[in-house]
Amino acid sequence: MHVKLRNNLLSMDDHFPLTDTPPHADWQRNLADAITKPAELLALLELDPDLPALDGSALRDFPLRVPRGFAARMRRGDARDPLFLQVWPASAEQQPTPGFTRDAVGDLAKLKPGGVIHKYHGRALVIATGACAVHCRYCFRRHFPYGEAIAARGQWRETLTQLAADDSIEEAILSGGDPLALSDDKLAALAAGLDKIPHLRRLRLHTRVPVVLPERVDSVLCSWLSQSRLQKIIVLHVNHPNEIDAAVGAALNRLRAAGATLLNQAVLLRGINDTAGTQIALSEKLFAQGVMPYYLHLLDRVEGAGHFEVDSLTAGNLMREISARLPGYLVPRLVREIAGAPAKTLLPW
Ligand code: SF4
Repeated sequence: MHVKLRNNLLSMDDHFPLTDTPPHADWQRNLADAITKPAELLALLELDPDLPALDGSALRDFPLRVPRGFAARMRRGDARDPLFLQVWPASAEQQPTPGFTRDAVGDLAKLKPGGVIHKYHGRALVIATGACAVHCRYCFRRHFPYGEAIAARGQWRETLTQLAADDSIEEAILSGGDPLALSDDKLAALAAGLDKIPHLRRLRLHTRVPVVLPERVDSVLCSWLSQSRLQKIIVLHVNHPNEIDAAVGAALNRLRAAGATLLNQAVLLRGINDTAGTQIALSEKLFAQGVMPYYLHLLDRVEGAGHFEVDSLTAGNLMREISARLPGYLVPRLVREIAGAPAKTLLPW
């Protein structure tokens, strides 16, 4: 089957070479050079400068942040562009929504020294950094007090001590923020420390960086990643097929060549990816790049994100439509995270 996608997107049979030359762009400079001013983003996208946004004081809590390469994938002159809507600090964020709280998934109650969150059997999550390359307005950690939890301090000593002390932990999950916003020196030191903990078998990274800043996936990153004795799993966060362009596809190929298994988790977002057509195109495009669709999350009910929510009934109808048109392995699991539950809750549909 050959499915052409809209807007100069890739077709199902577009491929990128497995051993392309890693980019030598200065990813840290590009990370720092992100768009942070709403007016600049509107001007770049040729959008109405009167589009309502949060005021300056609200933006101090969770500022605008968009890498220029990601903004380049947004359609000019379209205020409903699905990538733009994920990053635009709309005034709707200030509408209180009943049931939406600052710690939507109960992370704070589980937080241990060294930024370790141990919620699920056999796996422990490490809040490696508070930094992200992009600020997603629906983020469930948008109010997280990162200053108190950053694991990278003191050469990861506290984190490694916590993980070494519990031999039921087989998998370390690096999260944040976004772990790939950290330097390779820091990450390589952590990976080396994790390698030495005998009961660890797997290293998982939760990251959106390969999607929003694909030049970050360079030879230095791939080198420390491939040297780890642990099995590597990278859980990407892609919500819409327009997020994947040729540079992202090449970055994903480099990660696979470094020995990583690639999975994707998406968040179901109103007006952004809440149609069967979009979800099907996303699954097909991910798979064409060697990424398995894994989870489709119902929105975590975090304060400021109420306008993104899709109710579970609508989500169930969507899942039925998707599963009638895709092979089972391309249908992500519809889940919700419930604070205190021993695993993600699989939703019936
Ligand atoms: S990249 Fe992930 S952690 Fe960072 S703002 Fe987006 S959803 Fe939140």
